[in-house]
Amino acid sequence: AQESQAAQKPHSETSNNPLIDMDIERKVDSVLALMQLNEKIGQLVQYSGKWDATGPSSSNGDQHKLNKLKNGEVGSMLNVSSVASIRETQKIVMEHSRLKIPLIFAYDVIHGYKTIFPIPLGESASWDLDIIEQSAAIAAKESAASGLNWTFAPMLDVSRDARWGRVMEGAGEDTYLATEIGVARINGFQGNDLSDPYTIAACAKHFAGYGFAEAGRDYNTMSIGDHELHNSILPPFMAAAEAGVATFMNSFNDIDGIPATGHKVLQRDLLKEKWGWNGFVVSDWGSIGEMIAHGYAKDKKHAAEIALNAGSDMDMESYAYEAALESLIKEKKVSIKHLDDAVRRVLRIKFQLGLFDDPYKYCNEEREQNEVYTPEHLAIARDVAKKSIVLLKNENKLLPLSKNLKSIAVIGPLADDKNTPLGNWRGKGEYNTAVSLLEGVKQAVDENTKVYFEKGVALTIPTVKPGENQFLHPLKFNNEDRSGIEEAVEVAKKSDVVILAIGEDAYQTGEGRSQVDIGFSGLQLELLDAIKKVNNNIVIVLMNGRPLDLSYPSEVVPAILECWHLGSESGNAIADVVFGDYNPSGKLPMSFPHNVGQEPLYYNQKNTGRPYSPKHVTYSGYTDAPKAALYPFGFGLSYTEFTYSDLTLDKTEMPIDGEITVSVTLSNSGDREGVEVAQLYIRDLVGSLVRPIRELKGFKKLSLKPGESKKVTFKINAETLKFYTANKKWEVEPGEFNVWIGGSSLADLKGSFSVVN
Ligand code: BGC
Repeated sequence: AQESQAAQKPHSETSNNPLIDMDIERKVDSVLALMQLNEKIGQLVQYSGKWDATGPSSSNGDQHKLNKLKNGEVGSMLNVSSVASIRETQKIVMEHSRLKIPLIFAYDVIHGYKTIFPIPLGESASWDLDIIEQSAAIAAKESAASGLNWTFAPMLDVSRDARWGRVMEGAGEDTYLATEIGVARINGFQGNDLSDPYTIAACAKHFAGYGFAEAGRDYNTMSIGDHELHNSILPPFMAAAEAGVATFMNSFNDIDGIPATGHKVLQRDLLKEKWGWNGFVVSDWGSIGEMIAHGYAKDKKHAAEIALNAGSDMDMESYAYEAALESLIKEKKVSIKHLDDAVRRVLRIKFQLGLFDDPYKYCNEEREQNEVYTPEHLAIARDVAKKSIVLLKNENKLLPLSKNLKSIAVIGPLADDKNTPLGNWRGKGEYNTAVSLLEGVKQAVDENTKVYFEKGVALTIPTVKPGENQFLHPLKFNNEDRSGIEEAVEVAKKSDVVILAIGEDAYQTGEGRSQVDIGFSGLQLELLDAIKKVNNNIVIVLMNGRPLDLSYPSEVVPAILECWHLGSESGNAIADVVFGDYNPSGKLPMSFPHNVGQEPLYYNQKNTGRPYSPKHVTYSGYTDAPKAALYPFGFGLSYTEFTYSDLTLDKTEMPIDGEITVSVTLSNSGDREGVEVAQLYIRDLVGSLVRPIRELKGFKKLSLKPGESKKVTFKINAETLKFYTANKKWEVEPGEFNVWIGGSSLADLKGSFSVVN
C-alpha cells in the first residue's frame, strides 16, 4: 500500500492536470493488484506487427509474438493498421490471456492517415494554429476509424540544421513557434477527451535533444549545457506535458554522454517528478538495446536496468524488458515500485481511451469504410496546403499568373509527380494519389490555354519497385540522363511562362536522410540553365522537406514558391496560389541559408563579443559567404504589400508582475486582399546568461482588404519574458528590453522598455 501511495504522489484531487481522474486511478490500482510479475512486465512490451487479418505469420519472430500475446505478455502493438488486423490481434489477447488487458495500437500518423496533409515543417509555415489543430484532428479521426488509438506524433524537436533529414517532421528552428504548434497538434489528436472514439493518444517526441544532432547527422551525439537545454529544447515538451499529452517518446541520441533512453534526470526526475506528468514514456525503436552500441550498457540486461530505472516505461522492439526485467526485479536491481509505476502509467492511458470498457471500441468496419479519405477531408487538406505555401521571390509581379495566358510550360522532374508531394511518413497515403502540379494547373486554366509538359530530367533512378515503401532504402540520383532536356527547352521556347517543379524526392528527408549538400540533386540545375536561355519568365515551384540552398536559383529566376511536400491536394493548392485564387500567406519556419556551410543557421543566435555589425542581426561571420540567411525565419511575401508603422508601448516601465501592451498599425498598401502574420520579437539586453539577439514571443494572423489598416496588439508580461536563468529557475530578470513587430525576424520597427522590481 505504501508503494502505491508513493507512486501516486503527483496525483491529487485538486490538480488541474487533465490526465488525472481519481476514478481511473482506483481502477488502475485494482487491475494492478491482480497482476503477476510476467503480466506487469508484459504491459511494458511493444512489438511491431506487419500482418493483416490473418494475424502473425509462421515465422519464428511472429510466433514468438503470438505466444507472448496469448500469455498476456504484450502491452502494445505498432504497425498493425487496419480494423480487421487490429480486431484479430486484440482477439488473441481477449481469448487467451488470463487478465484480458487490452492492447493499445500505435502508428506513425505524422501528417495525415489516408488524407495526407503537408509535411509538418510545411504546415508550420502556415503559422495557423487552428488549421494545424484541424489537420491533426482529421488525422486522428481517420486513424481511429481504422482501429488505431495512438500516434507517435507530434515531433517537438527544435531543429536548426537543415542537413538533418528529420527537420521535415517538426515545426522548425524556433522554440516558441514549435511550442505553440506542438500544443495545437496535441489538441487536434487528443481532442477534449481521450475516451472520444474520434480521437487518439498523442506522443511528444523525441525526448530530448534529437534535433540538435551534431552536424545534422542523424542519431548523432549532441552536447548542450543545462541552460540551453531548458531554454531552447525543453519548452515544447513542458507545454506538451501541461497540455496533457498521453505519452512521450525518448530519443536515440546521447546528451553530453548519457543516452536519452537511459537519462534519469530528464525522464524520471524532470518529466515525471518535477513536471508531475503521469502518462507513459515509450522508448524509440530499439533504443533501449542501442545503449549497448553506445557503449553505455554492457548487454541487454544492463540496458533494461538502466532504461527502467531512468523512467523509460515501454520497450519498443528492443526485447530487453521481456528478457531481463524478471531477473532484475528478483535481484533487486529494479524496484517493484518503479515497475508498478511504469505499469500504472500504461494502464491509466488504456482506461482513459476506454479500451477496458470495450477493447474493440475502435474496430468499426463501417467507419473505416466511410470516414476516411472523404471529400470533406480532402477539401480541408487543400485549404491547409495552400496556406502552407511561402512566396519567396516575385520580381516584377510575375505572379499570380493569369488563367488565360496563351501557353504555359509545366516542366521538371516533380511537375507530373503524383507521389513526391505525399512526402515521407505518409501514414497510409497511397502511392501516386496526390494531385500533381500538372493536374492542378490544367484544372485551373482557361480552356484555351495551352499547357505543355516536359519532365526534362528525372530526379532519381528507382531503387525499389513502384509503390514499394522507400523508407530507409537508399536513394540513387540521376546524374547522367540529359535526354529530356532538349524537349523541355522546346516547350519553354514556345510558352509565355515556365513553371518549373524541382526540389527533393519524398524520401530525401525524414529519418536516416541527413545530407551534406542541401542543393539540388541530380541534373535539376542544368535543366534550369537550359530553360532560362530561352525563356526568362520562370516560376520555380519547390517541393522539398528541408531548407535548400537557393542561392543560385534565386539569382537567376524572377519567382519562387516554396511548396514543401504538400500532401494529397498538392497540385490544386499550388494552382490556387499560382493563379491568384489564394494570396500566399506562409512564413518560413526555418532560415534558408546562402550556403550549407552556414548550418546550423537560425535567427535567434547569441552575439559573440565581436559582432561589429551596423545591422541589428549580427551573426558570427565568414569571409567567403554572407553572415545572415538568404531567406530568414519568419519571411514570406504576399501578392499585396504590408507596411508596419507607429509602434507604441502603453508604458515604458513594467513591474515584474505587471503587463505592457505594445501595438503597431498594419496596413495593406497594395491592391489585393491579403493575410499577414505579424510577429513580435524581444531582446533581453543584459542577462545572467548571454541572451539571443532576438526571440519570437508572439504572432497574429490578420486578413486585410486593400487600403485597410488594423491595429495589432500584443501583451507582454512575465510569461513572455521569463527564461531559465543562471539560478536554474524560470524567472524574469529586471532590466532593459527591446521589442520589434514586423513581418519577419528582420522586423525593424523597434521600441524599448524596462522591467523593474
Ligand atoms: C523513429 C520514431 C518512430 C518510430 C516508430 C523510429 O525509428 O525515430 O520517430 O515513431 O521509429 O516507427
